[in-house]
Amino acid sequence: MGGTAGNWLPMAVKSLVVLGTFALLLWLERRRPLRRTVESSVRRTGRNLAMAGLAAVALRLTEQPMAQKLTTLVERRRWGLLRTVNLPKWMDTVVALLMLDYTLYLWHVLTHGVPWLWRMHVVHHVDLDLDASTALRFHAAELLVSVLWRAGQILCIGVRHRILSLWQTLTLMSVLFHHSNVRLPMALERVLVRFIVTPRMHGIHHSIVENETNSNWSSGLTIWDRLHGTLRHDVPQNAITIGVPAYRATADVRLCSLLMMPFEARSK
Ligand SMILES: [Zn+2]
Repeated sequence: MGGTAGNWLPMAVKSLVVLGTFALLLWLERRRPLRRTVESSVRRTGRNLAMAGLAAVALRLTEQPMAQKLTTLVERRRWGLLRTVNLPKWMDTVVALLMLDYTLYLWHVLTHGVPWLWRMHVVHHVDLDLDASTALRFHAAELLVSVLWRAGQILCIGVRHRILSLWQTLTLMSVLFHHSNVRLPMALERVLVRFIVTPRMHGIHHSIVENETNSNWSSGLTIWDRLHGTLRHDVPQNAITIGVPAYRATADVRLCSLLMMPFEARSK
């Protein structure tokens, strides 16, 4: 199963792919911006990266050891749906990736629908602009709770470690991409949105209008929104105001306010 020495190369490749995606998106955001911005980009990016740093530490200390342990356990004891059937390896991989993506869709719906989860997820949504740095800006508390969901995904689906790691990398790239402020050519947008979430599609989810926010929950494939009838692609980006109605002042989105937000009463 490979110790840490055997893992360094995939880890390095993963980091390079993710950093490369982030850098490419930052470059494209400058060349082909999709929406006009409200806040100073330097201040926002600094704040978002500070939140991302805290979140990364939280995940490193919790999700990583948990995932390592549970994926090993799942293989050894043959726990979870996919470990009870004997699918060819490629099919096992495809089904696991699909199930992980769908259960992430469900988790996203829950973070909006359950009041105490929304108080954490709102930190991600109050950003007054939307770009690749928003993709990394989650409150550490939300990610800590999501570790329990992840544990449930691993145990119920029966996810192998390599597949989990592949899915995490693909999801991170997808999340960076669809939060980015990149204007894709319409022809490319129309093709891509049949399969994966695009920046225009996810921009609608970050609108301050509630019935626009309550759409486009997918994080990878758009099929989940199609199946649930929650896909919207009918709101032009220049008609969208990004954010949450209760948090429109710049004082609301300062770093200290963001850190305290899940512990306050105000929510919608
Ligand atoms: Zn959301």
